[in-house]
Amino acid sequence: MADNNTFDAIVVGSGISGGWAAKELTERGLNTIMLERGFNIEHGKDYEKSNRPVWEYPHRGGRTQQMIADYPHLKRDYPLNERNLHYWASDKDNPYTETKRFDWFRGYHVGGRSLMWGRQSYRWSEIDFKANEKDGIAIPWPIGYKDIEPWYTHVEKFAGIQGSYENLPQLPDSHFFCRQWISILLRKMWHRRSKHIIIINVH
Ligand SMILES: Cc1cc2nc3c(=O)[nH]c(=O)nc-3n(C[C@H](O)[C@H](O)[C@H](O)COP(=O)(O)OP(=O)(O)OC[C@H]3O[C@@H](n4cnc5c(N)ncnc54)[C@H](O)[C@@H]3O)c2cc1C
Repeated sequence: MADNNTFDAIVVGSGISGGWAAKELTERGLNTIMLERGFNIEHGKDYEKSNRPVWEYPHRGGRTQQMIADYPHLKRDYPLNERNLHYWASDKDNPYTETKRFDWFRGYHVGGRSLMWGRQSYRWSEIDFKANEKDGIAIPWPIGYKDIEPWYTHVEKFAGIQGSYENLPQLPDSHFFCRQWISILLRKMWHRRSKHIIIINVH
């Protein structure tokens, strides 16, 4: 019986950090337990509002005055809407003190904010790793881009990062999970207007 309660690792929280830690630990054979305070969400099955057209919502997927009153922090940005309200921790039940503005948008459920984030994640370039030294404020990092590049790739391939291939030395390309045809189309449209843009597709 005692053996059942013995673990190599305990992960608290199943969000991006905890989820990733648990994935790596279990894949390497460690007996891992994950503790999550929020409700369960089963991948796929429980995304019941995913792809639902806005005309099927009472307020066309927007926000109501009641929602604005109930979510004094979340109302500051785009996530407050009736399409995903059930994913957000209540601002009223989970108040916090702000001495200066601090936007803290929380999701208490399996997966945490890995279900709400925008899939934007930028690689550091060699310039960033050397910036402290170049600016004369500190020593350079003991590792460089070449050391970390395989690990960026390792995470990106699993997590799914949005973006487009730009081949810029200051912003190395990630391994993108992108609808490449949307990027190509948008780029063609904007090039006609003589602008260079980096395309992101937020899911
Ligand atoms: C709308 C939105 C868009 C975003 N877009 C981006 C983006 O494009 N790029 C980017 O880099 N970042 C983005 N972020 C930020 C990013 O999502 C967070 O920085 C990241 O998810 C934090 O990961 P985490 O594991 O620390 O926390 P979370 O993912 O929030 O996970 C915390 C988990 O811990 C659980 N928990 C909390 N307390 C306890 C407890 N006492 N016991 C057990 N479990 C507990 C929670 O229920 C939750 O599941 C975005 C955030 C939001 C809200």
